Amino acid sequence: GTPLLEARDLVKHYQIRKGVLGRPVGTVHAVDGISFAIPRGKTVGLVGESGSGKSTAARLVSRLIEPTSGEVRFDGQDVLAMRGKEVKALRRRMQMVFQDPFGSLNPRLTVGDIVGEPLEVHRVASGRARTDRVVEVLETVGLSGRDLHKFPHQFSGGQAQRIGIARALATNPDLIICDEAVSALDVSVQAQVLNLLKRLQRELGLSYLFIAHDLNVVRYMADELCVMYMGEIVERGDGDAVFADPQHPYTQMLLAAIPGHDPVTARAQERGVATGEVPSASAPPSGCRFHTRCPAVFDRCPTEHPPLYDAGQPGRVAACHLLDEPRQVQRA
Ligand code: SF4
Ligand code: MG
Repeated sequence: GTPLLEARDLVKHYQIRKGVLGRPVGTVHAVDGISFAIPRGKTVGLVGESGSGKSTAARLVSRLIEPTSGEVRFDGQDVLAMRGKEVKALRRRMQMVFQDPFGSLNPRLTVGDIVGEPLEVHRVASGRARTDRVVEVLETVGLSGRDLHKFPHQFSGGQAQRIGIARALATNPDLIICDEAVSALDVSVQAQVLNLLKRLQRELGLSYLFIAHDLNVVRYMADELCVMYMGEIVERGDGDAVFADPQHPYTQMLLAAIPGHDPVTARAQERGVATGEVPSASAPPSGCRFHTRCPAVFDRCPTEHPPLYDAGQPGRVAACHLLDEPRQVQRA
């Protein structure tokens, strides 16, 4: 069937000005022509270093910020053409869970009011029906009605993130965008929250856009993977396939940095692991943006911008000129 969410050629450029009303001194290429699709009931992972455009991409598809150009479709509807009421209806179906569980929960509100707020805002339920629904979603995430009148500071980080997840679930959404949703938690607590998210997906048929810089976390969650570098998707494909056999030198570099990820580490070490500073997003390198850090850089790279080449398996693409070279015949 059609994907739940489809982003096509999404672009977000910011003008940087000298002073608030000063002359433009540059353009930040926060998101630069990305395309991806989230199938129903599946998880698409977005990975990349901080500043690669992952969060901006999430904010664009949910209309928290306006794109410079591109197309977003949610359940067949044109998201960028939506106005007031329609955007509000979209938010009911597309919720977010953020990185800092305490920072994203109002410390002055009770759990009941925090989780119940979207029900009021979207006029789903009020009064007794609201309380019933709040208790229901609290129980769904492993909390209970006894927590209704407590305040966020009375909970641990993991429990606070469960409150954030309960709030996201309250309006019965189709898609939850998780932006570094477990990054602030201890590793043991991370696993519990990830397993909760997986169980919710199975039971409720949820789709996730799962953003994280931690590849182990994304590997555990994502059916499909998009790797971002400097505002662009440089590799995309089935999650397991990308982890088993990354095609883009940047993906290889990210995987090589995971302790214990042996096959790739070995290969990356053979080739020399890329290092070096991430260039400024207001002055992205010419040609392939990764060429200033790439151990495999060759003559085409600084001048020719690589398209997403077919990477040899269905649905797999990577933006590296190495894939444009004739493939060697593999012999046993
Ligand atoms: Fe490296 Fe060139 Fe491929 Fe870019 S196009 S990733 S610089 S080999
Ligand atoms: Mg971010």
